Amino acid sequence: RKPIIAIDGPAGAGKSTVAKLVAQELGLLYLDTGAMYRGIAWVVQTANVALTDDRAIAELARQADIDLRPHATDAKQLLQVFVNGVDVTTAIRSKDVTSKVSAIAAQPMVREILVSQQQALGKSGGIVMEGRDIGTHVFPDAEIKVFLTASVQERAKRRHAELVAQSMGLSNGEPVEDITVIAEAIQTRDDLDTTRTVSPLRKADDAITVDTDGRSINDVVTVIVDLYIA
Ligand code: C5P
Repeated sequence: RKPIIAIDGPAGAGKSTVAKLVAQELGLLYLDTGAMYRGIAWVVQTANVALTDDRAIAELARQADIDLRPHATDAKQLLQVFVNGVDVTTAIRSKDVTSKVSAIAAQPMVREILVSQQQALGKSGGIVMEGRDIGTHVFPDAEIKVFLTASVQERAKRRHAELVAQSMGLSNGEPVEDITVIAEAIQTRDDLDTTRTVSPLRKADDAITVDTDGRSINDVVTVIVDLYIA
């Protein structure tokens, strides 16, 4: 297979933005695995299933048809996400889905189902895949592994700016929270993601850590592109 670039890291470290630009620059495919977990969280929420009902959640995950497509008109946009034929691109970024997704992603059956889909999507390589467990679990033999980090404050600041920008364009009608509230939500999600029993968020031993605090997006993209070319 062709090479794989695995980009992991905590919430809001800029993985999606960076992974997408790296893929564009190198002519590789791009897969946002977080969008898949968010898609399942959306299904669970829509079906009104309790977060503790492992069996029902596993069944919904098994039946879910998740389809990620490059944006139809604007390649710079994030992927368009369809779940069971419904366009959930905006809905999966809601506060509600975001607050539920880590509990759902902690369920072993959900991970098993999505990880095997991710492995199938990446089996020929030539892809930038980002998430929490790509370098440790989904593709432990990926040629390039990057662990993207930034301080919680920096990540909250960026997410806030992103939400403000979104609320001016593709609004989902939610008011933008202030930075401290966003920082708390990010910290809670990181705590759940690092302490779950199945493939928790952690840096792969052979991953290169890139701290993005005070660094421009272009700078970070260049670091990763250079790793690939070298
Ligand atoms: O990347 P994003 O923040 O959209 O991911 C949403 C959530 O999905 C994460 O907080 C995590 O709980 C889960 N996730 C995961 N494994 C991945 C990608 C995302 O558990 N590979």
